[in-house]
Amino acid sequence: MDSDQKRCICKMCPSYIACGEPLAFCLPQYGSSKCITVRSGCVCPGCPIYEEKGFSKDYYCIPGNEESIV
Ligand code: SF4
Ligand code: SF4
Repeated sequence: MDSDQKRCICKMCPSYIACGEPLAFCLPQYGSSKCITVRSGCVCPGCPIYEEKGFSKDYYCIPGNEESIV
């Protein structure tokens, strides 16, 4: 797990489902989740990486979510 993944707060998110996937779904090297499909809230805007990268969207974990493409 790299330093960005350690700071990812997805595990605190109501939408998060633990299924052994790498965290930091927002980063292209990890990508979206194969397990999370239901939007029950997204805490990305409160994440330090989100601020650092200047992100403005959410639900980076949801596959096929056009809005998540940065
Ligand atoms: S990307 Fe957003 S919605 Fe998905 S688990 Fe992380 S904080 Fe939750
Ligand atoms: S912005 Fe969201 S997906 Fe990216 S590291 Fe933070 S909590 Fe995880």
